[in-house]
Amino acid sequence: MAKKDIDWGNLAFGYSKTDYRYVSNYKNGAWDDGILTTDDQVTLSECACVFQYAQTCFEGLKAYTTEDGHIVTFRPDLNAERMQTSAARLEMPVFPKDRFIDAITQVVAANEDFVPPYGSGATLYIRPYMFGSDPIMGVKPANEYQFRVFCAPVGPYFKGGAKPITIRVTDFDRAAPNGTGHVKAGLNYAMSLHAIVDAHNQGFNENMYLDAATKTYVEETGGANFMFVTKDGTVVTPKSDSILPSITRRSLLYVAEHYLGLKVEERPIPLEEVYDMAECGLCGTAAVVSPVGKIVDHGKEILLPSGMNEMGPITKKLYDTLTGIQMGRIEAPEGWIHVIK
Ligand SMILES: *Cc1c(COP(=O)(O)O)cnc(C)c1O
Repeated sequence: MAKKDIDWGNLAFGYSKTDYRYVSNYKNGAWDDGILTTDDQVTLSECACVFQYAQTCFEGLKAYTTEDGHIVTFRPDLNAERMQTSAARLEMPVFPKDRFIDAITQVVAANEDFVPPYGSGATLYIRPYMFGSDPIMGVKPANEYQFRVFCAPVGPYFKGGAKPITIRVTDFDRAAPNGTGHVKAGLNYAMSLHAIVDAHNQGFNENMYLDAATKTYVEETGGANFMFVTKDGTVVTPKSDSILPSITRRSLLYVAEHYLGLKVEERPIPLEEVYDMAECGLCGTAAVVSPVGKIVDHGKEILLPSGMNEMGPITKKLYDTLTGIQMGRIEAPEGWIHVIK
């Protein structure tokens, strides 16, 4: 086998078709054995539940080539668990955790030639997802489901360095109290599309959502959790039942405390307090940490002291340490790295 002829350094963050994907179908109360297939097309009834009532959830993780040439994924057990939570909330059958990890392993191994080489900055993005597949007209859960995993090589999130972004505090709500904000449901993204297009039209990179009930506390953006660094060097992330529990954010908190010896806090963060923060970043698998330089709150500007040119110093240390762990340059905590080959 030989690596595909891909210009790894110039890949975008987008879809491209690889050779193999995994498919398992759920019918009559049980998942079938699942197979790898070269067929990238999905053919469904026009009345499939996913089309009518958006019964679908997904995950996102990456495979990396480490410094010593292994191919690994990062904490896939947490993606498996989160997808089970998402499925249960959407009245879908859960896909067993060991089978989830096996499916990821099979897809990455079968597409080994698409895994970007160490040092290229690119990675292999892996997308597991599940949807209600049989015809459903009255509002109720589907009876049949499909679980799939595909992957695509993606470029470095930051081309030519991580430039801080500008975000706005939005009046749109992302998630209701007791709603679905804590699960990775497609519906959370459908309703965020208008808010993000509007933000882009107004010249902002992202939306900062506040808690829907009181409009007081910071929640997250459409697809990433917040982390802040206070002026005395404490790493703080919002605690809320309606934000998506980011694996990157949870890992960064661990790294901050156990690798960098920083004080960490997970607690409600009033927007008022953001005016006094030293650094701000968005955490998620795609970017790891995307630095925020400016937050516009209804005409009032919050200029983070870290500025518009580079990541804040603590954000940078967190970013370097976590990516070092993922790429095998820094020893990982027990169980964080799943070696594929
Ligand atoms: C996926 C996602 C994140 C990031 O989660 P990671 O596990 O770090 O990739 C954050 N917020 C939302 C809304 C998400 O869907």
